[in-house]
Amino acid sequence: MKTAALILAAGHGARAPGPVPKQYRPLRLGSAVGRSVEVMLAAPGIDLVQVVIGPGDAGLYAAALAAHADPRLLPPILGGATRQQSALHGLLALEAQAPERVLIHDSARPFVTPDIIARVLAALAHGPAAIPAVPVTDSLKRADDAGGGARSVERAGLWRAQTPQGFAFAPILAAHRAAAAAGQLALSDDAAVAEWAGLPVSLVAGGEHNLKLTTPEDLAMASAHALPDVRSGLGFDVHRFRDGDHVWLCGVRVPHSHGLEGHSDADVALHALTDALLGAVGDGDIGQIFPDSDARWQGAPSHLFVREAVRRVRHRQAQIMNVDITIICEAPRIGPYREDMRRRLAELLEIEAERVGLKATTTENLGFTGRREGIAAMASATVVRVPRPQS
Ligand code: MG
Repeated sequence: MKTAALILAAGHGARAPGPVPKQYRPLRLGSAVGRSVEVMLAAPGIDLVQVVIGPGDAGLYAAALAAHADPRLLPPILGGATRQQSALHGLLALEAQAPERVLIHDSARPFVTPDIIARVLAALAHGPAAIPAVPVTDSLKRADDAGGGARSVERAGLWRAQTPQGFAFAPILAAHRAAAAAGQLALSDDAAVAEWAGLPVSLVAGGEHNLKLTTPEDLAMASAHALPDVRSGLGFDVHRFRDGDHVWLCGVRVPHSHGLEGHSDADVALHALTDALLGAVGDGDIGQIFPDSDARWQGAPSHLFVREAVRRVRHRQAQIMNVDITIICEAPRIGPYREDMRRRLAELLEIEAERVGLKATTTENLGFTGRREGIAAMASATVVRVPRPQS
C-alpha cells in the first residue's frame, strides 16, 4: 500500500507576523517544516513526502531541509492562495506517483508523533478518511467581537481536529477537485472537504502535544518545549606577579608577598569568570568589552566586569545556573578565604552560594605558576535560556 505524506507549508500566518514565516523559524529541534518532514520520513509506512511551499520560500525551504537527502522526499511544489488550494496543488503533484493513501499535514504541527501517524493509518483500513482529534476540555463561550454577551456552549461531543489527516488518495483528490469546481473555497481543513463531498470521516486519538504553532507565544513555547536551552562557557586568564603586598582574587583582598600586574585590579579569577559568562551567551570576551586601551578601566575593580557580563547574560534572557572556578598558584593559600570568596561571587552573580564552585590547586612547582611567576584561573559558567514570549 503506497502512502504519501503531503506537508502544507505555503501559509504566511497573520497571527505570528515576522520577516520569516513561522514554519521556517528556528526552533530547538530545527524549523517546523524540517521537523515535520523528519517525523514523516521516520514514520513506518510512509513512501513519499511532498512539501507544498509558498512563492519566494524556495531558499528558506532549501536551508531548512539541507540535512535531509532522502530519495523519498520529492522536490517542493508551489502552493496556491489558500490552504485548500495548496492541498489541491499537492494532491495533483502526487497523482503521478499513484499513491493509494495520503496523509495531509500542516507544517505548523512539528510535534506530531509516530503513534498519532500510526493510528491515522490504521483507521484508513476501515474507511476513506480518518483524522486525529482531542476532546475539548475548556468550557466554551460564544460572544460578540468585543467579548460582550458571552453565552456558554455545550462542549459534549466536541473535538479539536489536528493533522495529519489521512485519506484514501483517489476520493480525497476527487473531493478537492469537486469543491474547487463548485466554488467551495472556504473549507477549513481537508476533513471538511471530505465531508462536503460526502465521505465518512472518523476520529482517532490525537495528542495535546501535537499543538499548532499559531501565535508568537506558541513559537516561544515550542522553543522552550522539548529540551531546556542549556549553554555553558569557559574562561581562562593569567596575571604576572609584581611588587606589592596583596592580590585581589574573586573580589576579595588577599595579603601576599607580591601583587598582580594588570590594567585593572588584576583579579585573575573574576576575569576568567567574566569570560565564562560571556562565552555562555556567545558575547565576545573581556578584552573586547573592556579594552586595556580604555583609561576608564585603569585600576578598576573587576567586579564591574562581572556585573556587566551578568547584565549581558540577562539581556539574552538567560539565567545563571552555576559557575565553577579553579585558581592555579603555589601561593597565596586560598583555603582561608574560600568561603568569603564564594559568598562574594554569589552576591555578584545574584545566585545562591551552593551554585558557586571554587577550588584552588598548585602545579607541583611546574611551569610558570610552579615557579611563582604569576597566578592562573579557569572558570566555567552554565546558563539556561528562558525566552520570554514577545507580544
Ligand atoms: Mg585578565
